[in-house]
Amino acid sequence: MFVFHQKKIQMQTIQGDGFTVSVVKSGRRKTTALKIKNGEVSIHIPKRQSIEIARHFVQQKTPWIQQKLQHQAQQSLPEKDFKEGESFLFLGKEYQLQLVPAERPTTLIKTAQTIQIHGRVNILSKTAIRAALITWYKQQAELYLRSQTAFLTTKTGLSPRSITVKTYKARWGSCRMNGDIQYNWKLMLARPDIIDYVIIHELCHLQQHNHSALFWQLVDTHCPNFKTARLWLKNNGASLEI
Ligand SMILES: [Zn+2]
Repeated sequence: MFVFHQKKIQMQTIQGDGFTVSVVKSGRRKTTALKIKNGEVSIHIPKRQSIEIARHFVQQKTPWIQQKLQHQAQQSLPEKDFKEGESFLFLGKEYQLQLVPAERPTTLIKTAQTIQIHGRVNILSKTAIRAALITWYKQQAELYLRSQTAFLTTKTGLSPRSITVKTYKARWGSCRMNGDIQYNWKLMLARPDIIDYVIIHELCHLQQHNHSALFWQLVDTHCPNFKTARLWLKNNGASLEI
């Protein structure tokens, strides 16, 4: 959906599908150009050109803009150091990593603000800390995704044969013809409403093993905000990584 916002003094913007475009008018410019820099989208048009034409241009170029934004988001992902104070996402919330020296096997404890790693943290390598975190995320995924799927099964009446948590590079879940559902543990970094969408998506595949109009209709019945969640995942999915 495209809504055009016109502010009185501020720069004009065009609302795109999951992004906002700033309109820059120039007297010298003769052609229309789109620019995407640091995740910001702008359209540069001749002074007398109507905003309607710019809006159409943005609409036509939407897949290209979304692809560019996604690519830039991936490129700008900072490498983690697994150091004290670094932020890690859990259910869409940021937690600070705390390294607590202790003479015991590596143990993870989540508090209201932190994820603590207790153990011989002074000699643990970056790789070892990352591995400990991943093990913990997978355990949390087993618990959370199972109970949330059970809850959504009650709501939708769609019941999987089994649930497995896996590591995937480029997918959030999958559903086999026999009714087995697999989830990516990295979902645990996302907000609960995003996770619910993925669960409902896979549950709906139990009835529709495709991405037909009927399938999306079923998703819409059980998850009316699915378009927002789907777009969020498309644009931000790459950031759900440790
Ligand atoms: Zn699907």
